[in-house]
Amino acid sequence: MLTLNRLKQAAALSVLPIAATLVPAQAQAEEVNIYSYRQAFLIEPILDAFTEETGIKANVVFAKKGLVERLENEGQNSKADLVLTADSGRLYDVVNRGLTQPIDSAVIDANIPAHYRDPDGQWVALTARSRIVYASKERVKEGELKTYEDLADPKWKGRICTRSGKHSYNLSLIGSMIAHHGEEGAEKWLEGVKANLARKPQGNDRAQVKAVKEGVCDLAIGNTYYFGKMLHNTKNPEQVDWANSVNLIFPNQGDRGAHMNITGAAVTKYAPNKEAAVKLIEFLSGAKAQEMYAQVNYEFPVRPGTPLAGLVKEHMSDFKGDQLSLAEVAKNRAAAAKLVDKVGFDN
Ligand code: FE
Repeated sequence: MLTLNRLKQAAALSVLPIAATLVPAQAQAEEVNIYSYRQAFLIEPILDAFTEETGIKANVVFAKKGLVERLENEGQNSKADLVLTADSGRLYDVVNRGLTQPIDSAVIDANIPAHYRDPDGQWVALTARSRIVYASKERVKEGELKTYEDLADPKWKGRICTRSGKHSYNLSLIGSMIAHHGEEGAEKWLEGVKANLARKPQGNDRAQVKAVKEGVCDLAIGNTYYFGKMLHNTKNPEQVDWANSVNLIFPNQGDRGAHMNITGAAVTKYAPNKEAAVKLIEFLSGAKAQEMYAQVNYEFPVRPGTPLAGLVKEHMSDFKGDQLSLAEVAKNRAAAAKLVDKVGFDN
């Protein structure tokens, strides 16, 4: 016969293993799993603020490449709840592969204007940026270059630097040229730009501005926020000199406006924590996160009324952005990649 004590012990023994699995499960905080093409340093402070506000833990898998493929391979077993991308191309890639589900949230709809959301609800933009021209203060006169089309003018022969034509940012820019000029027109343009390159495409956007500073070239193609990241760089103060050696040219101000791109989010098709994923996107589109994006990374917030970083306000607040639909740009990216090969842009 069992004594009361032994009964308790037996109960404890048999219950313990179950309790050990059950109790933590019940006490476990809600969480959300992110596949991110956006760099960790940038989103971590924003995710910390999210966890503080909601109690939901945010886990991030960060990679420059291959997250969409990974999501696809994992299928229904994927733990990912949402994908964050650094441009519209990857966003459309994940949507077009059927790896997302619609986001339905009145909070997000109120925070983000309709043109920064997918009409079918498959993605939302979180920040915007423009792809512009950085021009040598010493060697390029004001008004000498006015448009992307001008980059193909033989007067710039041997004077332009850029990263690979195959990089996502350039594919979107070339995709926009296809939308505006047709494939043939865009090919001619790209050939012209290729003929004007000072060197084989290489490095990232900042490396091109460095090359301008060093006199390798006079014009560099780059995204807007890199100007802020260089000008206020305390870790690598030489980048301050790079930024100070250039003027910013927002192309096509007399007509369609400068090429725009976005960063954005999509909820995965099989998100195990869908509600938490939507909550996170609601947070990312809200006042606090939008201001953090603007301040930390010098981007343009998509939520109207969000204050810009001082530097952005000073140098980039007054320009016309191309209103071309992001869907149109994304549609042309495959054709853009073919043009890059065809004209041997990266060779
Ligand atoms: Fe970037």
